[in-house]
Amino acid sequence: MDGHTPPLPQVTAAHAAPDVSGRQRQIALFAALFLIVWGVLLTPFANSPWLAVPGYMTAFGAAMFVTNILLAALLFNRGVAERSAATIQLGSAYFFVAIVFVPLMAVFPGAFVPGSIIGETVSAVWIWNFWHTGFALLILRYALEVHRALPGRRAKPVRECMVLVLVVVVIAGIATVGLPWLPALFANGKTFFEGPMRLIAWAVLGLNVAALYAVFRIPDKTSEQVWLAVGMIAACLDVWLTFHGSNRFSLGWYLSKMGSLLTSMVVLMSLFVDLTSLYRRVWQANAMLAQLASRDGLTGLANRRSFDERLDSEWRRAQRLQQPLALLMLDVDHFKLYNDTYGHLGGDDCLRRVSAAIGQHAARPGDLAARYGGEEFAVILPNTDITGAANLATRIRESVAALGLIHPQSSLQRVTISVGVAVIVPAQDQRPAALVAWADQALYQAKHLGRDRVHLAAEPAKTAKEPLVTAPSPVAVGLSA
Ligand code: GH3
Ligand code: MG
Ligand code: MG
Repeated sequence: MDGHTPPLPQVTAAHAAPDVSGRQRQIALFAALFLIVWGVLLTPFANSPWLAVPGYMTAFGAAMFVTNILLAALLFNRGVAERSAATIQLGSAYFFVAIVFVPLMAVFPGAFVPGSIIGETVSAVWIWNFWHTGFALLILRYALEVHRALPGRRAKPVRECMVLVLVVVVIAGIATVGLPWLPALFANGKTFFEGPMRLIAWAVLGLNVAALYAVFRIPDKTSEQVWLAVGMIAACLDVWLTFHGSNRFSLGWYLSKMGSLLTSMVVLMSLFVDLTSLYRRVWQANAMLAQLASRDGLTGLANRRSFDERLDSEWRRAQRLQQPLALLMLDVDHFKLYNDTYGHLGGDDCLRRVSAAIGQHAARPGDLAARYGGEEFAVILPNTDITGAANLATRIRESVAALGLIHPQSSLQRVTISVGVAVIVPAQDQRPAALVAWADQALYQAKHLGRDRVHLAAEPAKTAKEPLVTAPSPVAVGLSA
């Protein structure tokens, strides 16, 4: 039913900007603690050899590429939409990881072919170093950008991508054709980071810990920043377990790969959760806007716009089905004098109470009570004959009188309304305006005959402005109720 005013949803800050819920923070904290405990407990077993699964690296590489490229795409889009240089820079970090996997998979022995497509086994370790160094540096750059929070700074994702592709090409070149000039990484021909090369591992770990610290220090973290901190713990764990694992296919090596995946996965998940809640907020805001656009602000009844739309659609339905369509036009009696007595605020209050009394009678699904303008109201009653419409009009008039709103300047001493009723079975060449004009004439008659009464339209409207009206058959004789 249209008469009652449903409560409008409130626009609050929570609708305006996504925030990290306490629950999300708790889950993130739990995940972070779990990763740290997991890493500490497994460190002593990290270099235990494990079953070599030849397809593992292929599956891992594919998963890393897809996860990171998806995350980068989401962040780039969001960064462009929000004009946020920082978000685009975060996207760059994940884009870098995605594309670094192209040469990494090409050099990794057994990822696609039995040997390496390019380079040697040690090339994979070098690319691994460059990957973790580059990612940590890019995350540091992001955190610095957030800290500086310079307004109006623009980052260009296409330029970022082009530079990063170039960087990865250079990295791939250094790790393959540049091998003769690089220090030997494998101390005994197969173990990583032995002897002085441990320095490299510690440096890479140090950079990742610095990046984690920088992210951790971001004040008022958004949900993606909270999850980025968790992701950076996973990244540190990844580096830690890789060089404690020492060998390919060791327990540490396998588990470190999960750390790599978690680094991007947790942020990707948080973005999806954000997107879902954003969708919900947009949906709510749309519903609220649709309601605001169709309701009258003062009385909560349908406004003039939705009255016009509904009258048009009900008119066409009645025309098609050849059913009667009734319209009531209602006007508060001597309302100007009421305003003069109680002021406009008192008048507004009166209009609210009168409209509530009117609205409660528009009870059938197709009925619509609307504020037509000022202190005039209209009620559309589809498939209602003259008797039904007249009865309803009388009940509405009685309800308003029963409110007992004192009106000292009215002859009746209380607020009353006059109602004009018109019913029509629309002919093909008629327009809805005919019904409005006709009901309006009846209302005028009700006023003329002394107010506080219902008058049924006796004659069709014959206005010069309505040339399409061709004498609709009057369905009732004029009478005042
Ligand atoms: P009648 O019985 O012939 O209808 O007399 P009336 O005084 O009700 O009619 P008139 O058209 O002379 O005055 C209508 C008044 O309604 C004038 C205007 O100030 C008042 N009005 C229109 N809209 C609002 C509103 O939103 N709030 C208030 N308080 N008054 C309004
Ligand atoms: Mg009036
Ligand atoms: Mg009026």
